[in-house]
Amino acid sequence: MATRLDAATNSKENDAEIGADGAGAGVAGAAAGALTGGGGFEHVRQRGDWDCGLACLEMVLRRVRVRGSGVMDAPRSTVWTVDLLLLLHRFLPPGCPLEYTTTCAGAPPASHFSLEFYAKAPGDAERVPLAFATARDRGLTVREEEADLGVVAAELGAGRACFVALVDYRLLRCAVCGAGGRAPSYQGHYIVLTGCEGGTLYYLDPAGAAPSGGCAVEFRAFSAAWAAAGTDKDLLWVGLL
Ligand SMILES: [Zn+2]
Repeated sequence: MATRLDAATNSKENDAEIGADGAGAGVAGAAAGALTGGGGFEHVRQRGDWDCGLACLEMVLRRVRVRGSGVMDAPRSTVWTVDLLLLLHRFLPPGCPLEYTTTCAGAPPASHFSLEFYAKAPGDAERVPLAFATARDRGLTVREEEADLGVVAAELGAGRACFVALVDYRLLRCAVCGAGGRAPSYQGHYIVLTGCEGGTLYYLDPAGAAPSGGCAVEFRAFSAAWAAAGTDKDLLWVGLL
């Protein structure tokens, strides 16, 4: 389960990146169009150092032609993947496939709160299990298992789905724009996986610079960042058909 999100907090370089492109500009970006993996995505920049997950939701919602949800205006300071699941369910069109896979579908492991990153939100130890209960009450699909990345790659390659993934941002560095890979310790960060081709993963990074073809890394590099301790291998799957 999860994680709280956020992104570029402790890194001066990352702060500079965000500032350079208009911090507070909110939904900036718009390198619309031709992203490998089905296209149709627009980059959305996170506004602060905590709302990368909400920016990812805005990107997914725009991809399925939902605009004006106001999802980025949610009044909160921590967001876990189960929160993103509940928000997606609220705003996605009826019938749009949605699943959440995680290795921890319930109370966050105590070990998380020993990480500096999670220690900032001690109240979440009580709040997050309630959010999972809400998801169950609403009939949402939460699978407590490790997602099969082979299937993920195939779905991306076929343009059948996109994914919101939680990664340790220390371990992910874009081969195109260079975003990521600078945090000094575990840093949970959400990205949107948009395509996969020939061992290369294409994605959108709400803290990144939105290159016209999207961000890209070797799939195995993404796999390591996604499997790092602290992420619970969280993955939200959204069908695009
Ligand atoms: Zn990039």
